[in-house]
Amino acid sequence: MAERADAFRRRLAGAIAAALLLGSVAAAHAQIVATRIWPARDYTRVTFESRQPLDYSLFPLKNPERLVLDLQGEESGAVLAELQDKVAAGDPYISSLRVAVNRPGVMRVVLDLKAEVRPQVFALQPIADYGHRLVLDLYPLVPPDPLAALLELGGQIGAAPPDKRLPGKPAVERLATVVIDAGHGGEDPGARGRRGTLEKDITLLIAQRLKALVDAEPGIRAVLTRDGDYYLSLQARVEKARAVKADLFVSVHADAFIRPHARGSSVFTLSQRPTSVAARWLAQQENDSDLIGGVNLDTRDPYLKQVLLDLSQTATSDHSQKLAGAVLAELGQINTLHKAQVERAGFAVLKAPDVPSILVETAFISNPQEELRLRDRAYQDKMARAMLAGIKRYFQLHPPRPQSPLALN
Ligand SMILES: [Zn+2]
Repeated sequence: MAERADAFRRRLAGAIAAALLLGSVAAAHAQIVATRIWPARDYTRVTFESRQPLDYSLFPLKNPERLVLDLQGEESGAVLAELQDKVAAGDPYISSLRVAVNRPGVMRVVLDLKAEVRPQVFALQPIADYGHRLVLDLYPLVPPDPLAALLELGGQIGAAPPDKRLPGKPAVERLATVVIDAGHGGEDPGARGRRGTLEKDITLLIAQRLKALVDAEPGIRAVLTRDGDYYLSLQARVEKARAVKADLFVSVHADAFIRPHARGSSVFTLSQRPTSVAARWLAQQENDSDLIGGVNLDTRDPYLKQVLLDLSQTATSDHSQKLAGAVLAELGQINTLHKAQVERAGFAVLKAPDVPSILVETAFISNPQEELRLRDRAYQDKMARAMLAGIKRYFQLHPPRPQSPLALN
């Protein structure tokens, strides 16, 4: 907070100096160019996008629970006022939102809350198509239990017709859990195709398709790391996989490269030493997206990242390699392979230490032909089916470990 206040004072001093220098104080109105609300299971994110970094103050009010965000240097509330209509009916935290002029040069945003929240505010630097952003995340006081989703799912599985079970078999068998991770999301769009297709949208569609296919198979179930358009840090994805005792972790992406003719599918496993320059470059791109939530994560748990990064991969790298080989072989049936072998790169998202993990670059979104195919529902289905076939082939050769994932708790 002290840092924040210092930064604010520095910026204020700078603004005053600039105003004196220019002989004008009219520089700062209508800064906000866009507003967004991303409701998600774990938290709701409110984003204010602006031409210049925004100065703000945030404080809670009780009875009823509210959060007040004052935005300085914002004279016109026109764009800001649009936010009032963007609160989703099912938002877990916000019941309504109001925008009003508080005093000259200060717009006030009041969030009426359904319950007390743990707010976090941070600024993001401009990236890709986005300008400066002020992000307000509303977390529940008690984090939701990641196992709750699995138990809900277990209820559905338990509801299967009893006559389908063989005599003498236990009612609930060990189900293998595949965690499917749709890359990017929310404020992190990932790569962008020439026609404007966003990687985050494609990865979600393919991940959702793959989940439906996996869930239709006996003995396997799928859990998505995200099931909507919202941001999740890489570590949050890994935590989810661990929390549900994932047997496999499959992260779905769509590749991009500077050269538009780069094409084909790739499958990566983790390595401290990337196999190629391209793999190193790609890992850098994917890992950079973590910066988007980096501030947030670092304030929440400064040790988590280091712990994850320090854990050894030796126990599962062999199995990751086998899974990657199986999936790559299936992808080779439906698409050109970018590289004939499994590649290795240092992706943070693959650093789930006890779960065989792969990252699939389905195709190049930066290649105009592949971008078109990625947008096609039938092709998304083909991709998902190829990944499913690879996953099944892996499980045939390496059945899931016998203990129940829930028994460990
Ligand atoms: Zn990606």
